Amino acid sequence: MKAHDKDSSVRGRVLEIMRMSTEDGPGIRTTVFLKGCPISCGWCHNPESIKPGPQLQWISTSCILCGICVATCPQGALTMTSEGIRIDRGRCRACGNCAEACPSGTLELMGREWTAEDLAGEIVKDRAYFETSGGGVTLSGGEAALQLEFCLELLKILRAKGIHTALDTCGMVPPAHLEKLLPFVDLVLFDIKEIDSKKHRAFTGSGNEKILENAKFVASYRKEHLRRHRIWIRTPLIPGATAAVKNVAGIGAFIAENLGNAVERWELCAFNNLCRDKYSRLGIDWEYADAALLTREEMESFAETARASGVNPAIVSWSGMTLLDTETGGKDREADAPAKPRAVLKHGCATLRTMED
Ligand code: SF4
Ligand code: SF4
Repeated sequence: MKAHDKDSSVRGRVLEIMRMSTEDGPGIRTTVFLKGCPISCGWCHNPESIKPGPQLQWISTSCILCGICVATCPQGALTMTSEGIRIDRGRCRACGNCAEACPSGTLELMGREWTAEDLAGEIVKDRAYFETSGGGVTLSGGEAALQLEFCLELLKILRAKGIHTALDTCGMVPPAHLEKLLPFVDLVLFDIKEIDSKKHRAFTGSGNEKILENAKFVASYRKEHLRRHRIWIRTPLIPGATAAVKNVAGIGAFIAENLGNAVERWELCAFNNLCRDKYSRLGIDWEYADAALLTREEMESFAETARASGVNPAIVSWSGMTLLDTETGGKDREADAPAKPRAVLKHGCATLRTMED
């Protein structure tokens, strides 16, 4: 990734550009993860995307303990300890000097600024993959739609170049943002995580009223404007939280009643804990670090619940990692020790990424 120095285009803060993704819409895609999210799901797979500003991370496995970063930091925020480099986040001003000086790429400043113009130029390099696979670009996060002007300009440039565009949203955004962005979006990936607002607040820090209203707005926009954009609903199934029959049935009833045939796909995404290292790099204890994966039978069962919920059964699918059948051995999984992720990947889920990818 490169920083830029042009003033001719709107700037946005980008966490990561992931090429060759097959998980964030049709075909091969370049997914742009933007910084900043208005909700904080306990199971979030991109914890480094929640804060809107840049954050420094240190990867212990590649550090050669040369000490160059410590000498480089103008704030005195880095210390060499017996366990490696310690970051005093209260002192760090996220200037990026240490990351630039680090000879092994161990320190990384997550969340660099780009202009829409420069980023579009970077994305266009992948055009050949898009054209041969029916893919394109997906704006994700964090919550991409919060960086309205940046996304708007980027989408306009990409659409003018004939590139398929998708917006991955948690739905907790001002409707006016969606209204401005939708004309330039071919596919909306819309998360509905929990139908009970009190539980939604407990899981994410916010109720779901605004999200459900925005889901209706996106569906009605599609009907009224007869545009070519499509809608996929995605529901993460998290053990002990959203992975509940009542929740899946409730979301299905909501889709059937309010979104109707505007929804092309409803994808149930199985929980995985591949992001454990991200939390440790950020110095955060993650409550789901040892949570068990769901089994294939459980995912099939949730999919059956979804198909019987009132939606068109053909739109329901599931994705993500599951426990191998032999691992549960027919026992009560809840009574077993937390499962380690020896897992099968049916097919990708949008949240299934690691920094090592
Ligand atoms: S990003 Fe800047 S302030 Fe923060 S630790 Fe590195 S050199 Fe110091
Ligand atoms: S400069 Fe990089 S490799 Fe050297 S001690 Fe710092 S983080 Fe480790």
